[in-house]
Amino acid sequence: MAKTIQFKVEKDRVLVPVGEACSFGCKYCYTRGGEVGPPKVKREEILHELKKFSQEAKFGLIQFGYDGDPFVRPERGIWMLQELAKLGKHITFSTKALIDGSLLEQLSTIQQEMASQKTVMVALISVSCWESAHRIEPHTPTPSERMMTVSNLKKVGIPTLIALRPLLPNIADEEYEHVIDEGIRASTDGFILGPLYGDVKRRFVRFIPTDMLEKTPSVIESVSWSAHEPTWIRYENTSRSQRMAQMIRAKRSQVLLSSADVIEFVQRRKVLV
Ligand code: SF4
Repeated sequence: MAKTIQFKVEKDRVLVPVGEACSFGCKYCYTRGGEVGPPKVKREEILHELKKFSQEAKFGLIQFGYDGDPFVRPERGIWMLQELAKLGKHITFSTKALIDGSLLEQLSTIQQEMASQKTVMVALISVSCWESAHRIEPHTPTPSERMMTVSNLKKVGIPTLIALRPLLPNIADEEYEHVIDEGIRASTDGFILGPLYGDVKRRFVRFIPTDMLEKTPSVIESVSWSAHEPTWIRYENTSRSQRMAQMIRAKRSQVLLSSADVIEFVQRRKVLV
């Protein structure tokens, strides 16, 4: 288990933890064992350690929220984003929360302040299923609520993509097509595809029937995006990912294969308002 905060530059980005357990309880969640960061850390300590790290490391992008959801407790997420925005880097945050009202207004203010410093904030809204969400993500805001988040963020000028990940072997393509259609209707700027992670004890993937899991191509690897570098099994059916990507492009939306490419994407596409 990871006991200390660690940072690492990979592809010009640094992942920054929320530092608090997430109560959304998605069945595929890989954060519960603490391998990607300590389960409870003071927000001030995370910022302090990040600032120290930034003095020596060179990077352009902060990715916030890989060990938990920043808006399970919105006041913590907003406080951390306000502080991160002062560091002069681009920022992405990942969430499954319903964002509206005062939370939306505060994010809009952060976005405007960052724009005046010529930095960009991009939202990544995670959706892994639609009709099956009540089974797989039972305590998480519904996919419909997450689409309201997409639409709300877009209305205030925050570039927003849907993280269609993990792509689950036990969810049919038709269900993903539903997510894609709803995402386009909500005005998403595009989709990011991504793999499923498990470990040798099959934690995070127990809810998937064994035969389906065994048919999914997999590789055991050290997870490069995490400073803690856990060794996990990466399940990824690349021909299925290509099929999804083709479906998204056929519907005239955009596909990315890594969230590391998001800032370059929004700047190139002039997604910014
Ligand atoms: S929202 Fe993310 S961190 Fe929270 S339970 Fe789901 S996968 Fe885990």
